[in-house]
Amino acid sequence: MTREDVSVYPNREAENQQKCQVCQSPFTVKHISIHCTCFSAARQSYLGVNTLEELVQNVESRNITAFIKDIDFYHRIYRCCTSA
Ligand SMILES: [Zn+2]
Repeated sequence: MTREDVSVYPNREAENQQKCQVCQSPFTVKHISIHCTCFSAARQSYLGVNTLEELVQNVESRNITAFIKDIDFYHRIYRCCTSA
């Protein structure tokens, strides 16, 4: 497991890890930021990068914040954490 594969729920056991509701992949920071097709439009609009390295090095924090708000990430985490 690389640093990019870290779950957004670090305290959960692997078998209980939350899955993406769209594609059933592990719900990781990398999946949300780079891979999930559900967020492609918002990703291109706010981030415009293809790797986490590019994201960290090239994207301003206000764009990352706007992306997180646009995809309703706060509420996704809340729903996932309270539905277990
Ligand atoms: Zn997904």
